[in-house]
Amino acid sequence: MDLVFRQLQDQSSSTYTYLLADPSSGEAVLIDPVLEQARRDAALVRELGLKLKLTLDTHVHADHVTAAAILKKTTGSRIALSAASGAQNIDVPLHHGDRIQFGRRHLEARATPGHTNGCMTFVLDDGSMAFTGDALLIRGCGRTDFQQGSAEALYRSIKEQIFALPENCLLFPAHDYRGLTATSVAEEMRFNPRIGGARSEQDFVGYMANLGLPHPKQMDAAVPANLECGFIEAAPPALDASWAPLRYTYSGIDELDAEWVAEHRRELQIVDVREPREYTSELGHIPGARLVPLGALAGQAEALDKTVPIVTVCRSGGRSAQAVTILARAGFGKVANLAGGMLEWHARGLPTD
Ligand code: FE
Repeated sequence: MDLVFRQLQDQSSSTYTYLLADPSSGEAVLIDPVLEQARRDAALVRELGLKLKLTLDTHVHADHVTAAAILKKTTGSRIALSAASGAQNIDVPLHHGDRIQFGRRHLEARATPGHTNGCMTFVLDDGSMAFTGDALLIRGCGRTDFQQGSAEALYRSIKEQIFALPENCLLFPAHDYRGLTATSVAEEMRFNPRIGGARSEQDFVGYMANLGLPHPKQMDAAVPANLECGFIEAAPPALDASWAPLRYTYSGIDELDAEWVAEHRRELQIVDVREPREYTSELGHIPGARLVPLGALAGQAEALDKTVPIVTVCRSGGRSAQAVTILARAGFGKVANLAGGMLEWHARGLPTD
């Protein structure tokens, strides 16, 4: 059966977020979404034509704040997390053996405590993939020295719940600090230095007692926020879209619709980044648009007003997307791309000079 699958990364916390969807119904779930990446993840869901049904956290994270709350507010998704986590604001409290349905596909929730007592591993319906959170990492595992951690419990979780999966089952962790992306049951059973090969429970517990890891930087802020499923006051600065109805794309650019730009053009600086001969071609230009060809933009950015929002324009919306990046780098905070450029502007019959 078909499946939409994407592995996404938050570089600053080395967290992986996974998008899974059933293409026939469009129903999607996101595993371990990160607050700072909420706009990116929502953009991908929208561009793929999916509907986010649920966010699933594998556990109460100590190193980043979940995007569960912000995605619920912005997309209407529901929040699923293990009931044993003790967190507030859970819409779908998960128990061992629960089936998490999205369209014709589902994940099975397996309790895999040890890193925290609410850790869960999510196993895809056909046993081809499992999302292990911090229970099992690639050639490693989550630490067991805080948040109700227990090396004995983690040993049993990995052996009885994860190593009991089909040997060719691909395993996807919540983190990897070296950029490794996936592993398999057979591989970890053989090569995991903590619990693979002939390692006994005693070997594992001895290893875990001597990791000597520092306190996670974000722990004091992240754990209380995640115990509320991410319902906290402060939104990340990137979420401020108060000046215009911005549409963030998965390519990383804020866009605006031609109609909105036409209605508000007197409150904006319209920067046309085409070449001079295009500016005066049959496509024309938006009344009041200032011509700054893309190649000259970085050098001439200083001449633009930083207090007035900027909308960039080109023929089809490609070069002007690059212009947004150049202006953002030059310190402009309110910049967006005209979606579809002059071609779209014309198609909608909006005024030109
Ligand atoms: Fe963790």
